[in-house]
Amino acid sequence: MSEVTTVPTVPTHCPYCALQCGMNLRPTAAGALPAEVVDRPDFPVNRGALCGKGRTAPAVLSSRVRLTEPLVRCPDTGALEPATWEEALSAVAEGLSRTRAGHGADAVGVFGGGGLTNEKAYALGKFARLVLGTSQIDYNGRFCMSSAAAAHQRAFGLDRGLPFPLEDIPKTGCVILVGSNLAETMPPALRYLTELKANGGKLIVVDPRRTRTAEQADLHLAPRPGTDLALALGMLHLVVAEGRVDEEFVAARTEGWAEARAGAMSHWPEQVERITGVPVPELREAVRMFSEAGTGMVLTARGPEQQSKGTDTVGAWINLCLATGKAGRPLSGYGCLTGQGNGQGGREHGQKADQLPGYRKLDDPAAREHVAGVWGVPPESLPGPGRSAYELLDALGRDVKALLLMGSNPVVSAPRAAHIEERLKSLDFLAVADVVLSETAALADVVLPVTQWAEETGTTTNLEGRVLLRRRALTPPPGVRSDLEVLHGLAALLGWEKGFPADPEEVFGELRRASAGGPADYSGISYRRIEEEQGVFWPCPDEGHAGTQRLFLDRFATPDGRARFVPVVHRAAAEETDADYPVVLTTGRVVAQYQSGAQTRRVDELNAAAPGPFVELHPRLAERLGVAEGEAVAVVSRRGRAVAPARITAAIRPDTVFMPFHWPGEGRANTLTNPALDPVSKMPEFKVCAVRLERAAS
Ligand code: SF4
Repeated sequence: MSEVTTVPTVPTHCPYCALQCGMNLRPTAAGALPAEVVDRPDFPVNRGALCGKGRTAPAVLSSRVRLTEPLVRCPDTGALEPATWEEALSAVAEGLSRTRAGHGADAVGVFGGGGLTNEKAYALGKFARLVLGTSQIDYNGRFCMSSAAAAHQRAFGLDRGLPFPLEDIPKTGCVILVGSNLAETMPPALRYLTELKANGGKLIVVDPRRTRTAEQADLHLAPRPGTDLALALGMLHLVVAEGRVDEEFVAARTEGWAEARAGAMSHWPEQVERITGVPVPELREAVRMFSEAGTGMVLTARGPEQQSKGTDTVGAWINLCLATGKAGRPLSGYGCLTGQGNGQGGREHGQKADQLPGYRKLDDPAAREHVAGVWGVPPESLPGPGRSAYELLDALGRDVKALLLMGSNPVVSAPRAAHIEERLKSLDFLAVADVVLSETAALADVVLPVTQWAEETGTTTNLEGRVLLRRRALTPPPGVRSDLEVLHGLAALLGWEKGFPADPEEVFGELRRASAGGPADYSGISYRRIEEEQGVFWPCPDEGHAGTQRLFLDRFATPDGRARFVPVVHRAAAEETDADYPVVLTTGRVVAQYQSGAQTRRVDELNAAAPGPFVELHPRLAERLGVAEGEAVAVVSRRGRAVAPARITAAIRPDTVFMPFHWPGEGRANTLTNPALDPVSKMPEFKVCAVRLERAAS
């Protein structure tokens, strides 16, 4: 028997997206690299299936470009030079203290990430508010699902991405999938839709592109980007006009129908066709399919959410669910397909500008008192709400003069990225913890090399609200430390000898106490239970509680238990096309890259599959411009210019172009995107901006 087969495998989860696929990891020798991914068919979410990103995830662990020693910028040469951990941590503590002493606590910012484990998100929020005393903390999850979270809260009183497990999807009657390309973002999840169709259920996909996911649909609606809100209102109009409202459900389980109904009735189908480009007969067919199905779900993703009206857009789809009685019942409801690996848990434990652990509101006196009690400080010592992610990045170098950043790469992933890059460069002090020298880390004064997913223990919460555990499977290289060790060390240097343990299970124990009694109650969840039960769904208020797979079946989480219709009306995108910028740009993802690409661009196999950005455009638009397949195209918006090869396809609307956003440099899509913010969620408008196209040589 070979050495490989004698080493036991360790069950764990993929480090990337919110599906958190289960996998087994097999080191070549106990705790050693390279490691091999082995199928884990017993984990119910993905039943052994993985996409290329998950299968190749160990490559980043042994990448020759991963950071294995701290770097400190040399004042003489201006270059990042190797340093000891003591030197690096002292430099960070000194940089943050100097700024705080000179400009006040709120001049120090903290920026987290939706890939950080629950323990790290919790510790980072506590570190910001207790050790630094700053209100200026937010994270890149604000750019991910914040509009859906806000709409969920508004309608149901509680936000959990999916209020039902994925296993319910194949059993429902009809799914409307809005702005989600599962075939590229979460390929193993596509089987839920395949099984839905095999069971006789219907699939409607709403997407301006005929994606590989849209090709599976019984009905594909291709609205102009930024008009999903009008589309949902038009459908609700037809639901009313055709007598398809579930009056009994509306009367028994909801509030606010009269106002929402009035809003929908002012959006006539013909008017909606003019706004969206979706023909009225297609609209009617979608309404018929959804209404006549006994059960149904609407699932949204970044398409409708990453808009300056994202919260209202999701609200319009929720209104459709409520009016047709497809919420708060078995096999029915609205859900958000969260994107980042710990996008769900990342927003529950206190790294958000407006929230405390347990999904508590920072401006709620009872919440402040509870969390302050767990932390052993007076409630009045906790700062109030801070700026949202884009507002925080935009304030860098002005009000916010020093930044500690963990698990994010805004130079590539933030909207209006060239401006944000300049703001980062204008800081007095920047410290970045990361596994590679990302484009953002390259700007830092101090870079702290941290452990990766397989080298540390911690929990994540997937898009279903299922809390999962990744056990340390491999020994990290000498020279790296975990983010928790970084916070432990910094806290000690800043006078907090206690309160910031480096042991993840100890942090999780405190997180459980901090979340107790809150909306996202983890008090009954332990590492042992997660391992024995293939994850535990929150809320789980005590150890005898089974966890909550399905929410809202008896009552919604509002004070009176009734869901809220929210009246919404269509409004234009923040930036409409005109004579100078006549085409709509929408941005998104490809299957072989993940988010800013900081990790996946370092994997040879993924780079071979997706080596760089491209501009997807319709043949008619290409002909008008005189652009051939593969030819360099310049895309110009009011914020800048990006250049990438043309990819010509009839699968996109002729008035729209698409660019994936995973790359830096001249093909950086986020150079172009519009930071106009949703007034409720503060989500930027990544999905819609006005551009013109030019042949790059001209
Ligand atoms: Fe990882 Fe998501 Fe791919 Fe699953 S679908 S292997 S969680 S990136």
